[in-house]
Amino acid sequence: MKITTLKRFEFAAARRLAGQWHGDNFVVWVGVAGPLDPRTGMVINVSDLKAAAATRLDEKYDHRLLDVQIAEAPTTLNIARALWADLRPDFRAPQALASVDVQEQEGPAARVEAGSAPTGIVVGEFSAAHRTHAPGLSAAENRARYGICNNPAGHGHNYRAALYLPEGAAAPAGLWAEFDHRNLSADIAELQGRNVVTETLAELIARRVPEAGRVRVWETSAFFADYRRAGDPYALGRRYHFSAAHRLNSPALSPEVNARLFGKCNRADPHGHTYQVEVVLTVAALDPQTETAHDLDALDRCAADIVGPLDHRYLDAEVAFFHDRPSTGENIALYLWERFAGGLGPALESVRVWETPNNQFVVQR
Ligand SMILES: [Zn+2]
Ligand SMILES: [Zn+2]
Repeated sequence: MKITTLKRFEFAAARRLAGQWHGDNFVVWVGVAGPLDPRTGMVINVSDLKAAAATRLDEKYDHRLLDVQIAEAPTTLNIARALWADLRPDFRAPQALASVDVQEQEGPAARVEAGSAPTGIVVGEFSAAHRTHAPGLSAAENRARYGICNNPAGHGHNYRAALYLPEGAAAPAGLWAEFDHRNLSADIAELQGRNVVTETLAELIARRVPEAGRVRVWETSAFFADYRRAGDPYALGRRYHFSAAHRLNSPALSPEVNARLFGKCNRADPHGHTYQVEVVLTVAALDPQTETAHDLDALDRCAADIVGPLDHRYLDAEVAFFHDRPSTGENIALYLWERFAGGLGPALESVRVWETPNNQFVVQR
C-alpha cells in the first residue's frame, strides 16, 4: 500500500514551439509519497510541500520564457521532466517525489512518475448517443438493471477521453470525429451486438490508438472507464462527495506543537470541507453477460454505506476512527481505503480524496 500527498500549483509562461509563440497557464500537481507519520497523520506537511514547489516554480518557471529556462525544447512533457529533476532533491527519504503532472489549461498534459516512462496525455471530447442494453440479458433483466438508460430511443453524453501516450506519439487524425454526433449503438459497426457501455468504448478507442498505454473515457464527471495495456485491462472510477466539519489536532502532540504543525487548521472551533472521493477498481475480464467491469449500482450502494456515515458529521468528535488520530486527508483516505477494501476486495486499486480543489491524498495498492 502506498500513500501520496499531492498539491496543485499554477504558473504562466511563454515558449516557442514549431516556430510559433505560445503563452500558457499551466496547472501542476506535485505528489510526494512516504510512510504515514502516526503522530501527525501526514506523509508530508502540505505547507512544506507547498513551500518547496512554489520556490522552484517561482525561481525558474513562472513568468519566464521556457526556451531559455530548460535545456530541451519546451514541450509540456519536457517541462514536466525538467520540473521533476528540479524538485526531486527537495524531498529526502523516507519522503520521495512520486509524480509531477503538468497540464496546459484545458489542454494536453504530461506526467512524470517514479518507476515509469514519461507519459503525454492527450484529451478529446465527443457528444454521442447510446443505449445501455446487454444482448446477453432478457428485455426484463435489461430494464431492471439499467432503468431509463435502457430506453429504446437511447440517450446521450458529452464524453471526455484521455489517451496516455509514450513520448512522440500523437492521437490519430480524425479519431474523435468517428464518434462525435453519432449513435454509438447504431452507427459504429464494431459495437453492433455489444452492450455499449463506457468500458466497451474505452476498449474500442484503445484499438484505434495502439500506442496508448491507457485510454480513459469519462461518461460523466463522476464516472470513467479505462482500458489499459499493463496489469488488469479494465478499470472503473467513480466519484462521490461528503460534507464534514473537522479540526486537525494530534493527541500525541503538545498544544504548542499542534498549533505550529497545523496552523489555522488547529483552531479550537472546527472548520470543514466538501470532500471529493474517487474510488478506482480494476478487473481482469468483463462480465460475459453484461460486458461491464463492475455493477455500478452495487458500487454506489457500497459507497453509500461507507461515505454516507461521514456526511454532515464533525469527524473528530463523531467518527470513532478519528478519536485517537488527526483527521488529516491521509487518514481520511486511509479510513475510506480500509472500508472499500473490505467491500470490494483485491479489485480496489485506489482511493483518492480531495480536501479542497488544491489538495489530494491517495491510497493505492
Ligand atoms: Zn449512458
Ligand atoms: Zn481542513
